Amino acid sequence: MKRFVLILPLLATLIGLGVVSCGSDAPATISKVKRSSSPANVAVWLKSTSSISWLPRQVSGRYDGASALDNIRQAAAGNAVKRSSYGTAPGGYVRLDPRMLRAMQSMAKEGYSFRVTSMAGASHSRTSRHYAGLAFDIDMINGRKVGRSNPYWRKFLARCREMGATETLGPGDKGHSTHIHAAWPR
Ligand SMILES: [Zn+2]
Repeated sequence: MKRFVLILPLLATLIGLGVVSCGSDAPATISKVKRSSSPANVAVWLKSTSSISWLPRQVSGRYDGASALDNIRQAAAGNAVKRSSYGTAPGGYVRLDPRMLRAMQSMAKEGYSFRVTSMAGASHSRTSRHYAGLAFDIDMINGRKVGRSNPYWRKFLARCREMGATETLGPGDKGHSTHIHAAWPR
């Protein structure tokens, strides 16, 4: 016991000098703050994952620089993304909402594969949240077209709602027999 008491101050001194460290596995410096979750970096991840494909044109067939593929590339570059300029589409640019981007990332990480046909581009209803960068459309899930017989889209939309989507449409809703739509609040 006496010997232990003598050793204690010595040990304290050594720790103070850095000769002995408690928990030598602990990192020597404070780890850098991860910036991988910035919207642009999420977009980079989304663009490169094999779980998601991006329609390179509008569903209407147009190539106008505002396709889903164009939009994810623009977002990955850290930029606002292009809107279409036909029908009720207002033209101009908008930022994709980070909540939507992170939800897409979560769905891919949870094992879904899917094809995005539209985000800010294309012509939708006049007040569509697509124009605010808050919505996406998907026409393929897990290798199968979205439709009444696709077994995945209901759960997919339910997960989107759990991740904040407040407008979800799919087969059975007018105009959505072959694609699903998920949108986040303004
Ligand atoms: Zn939509």
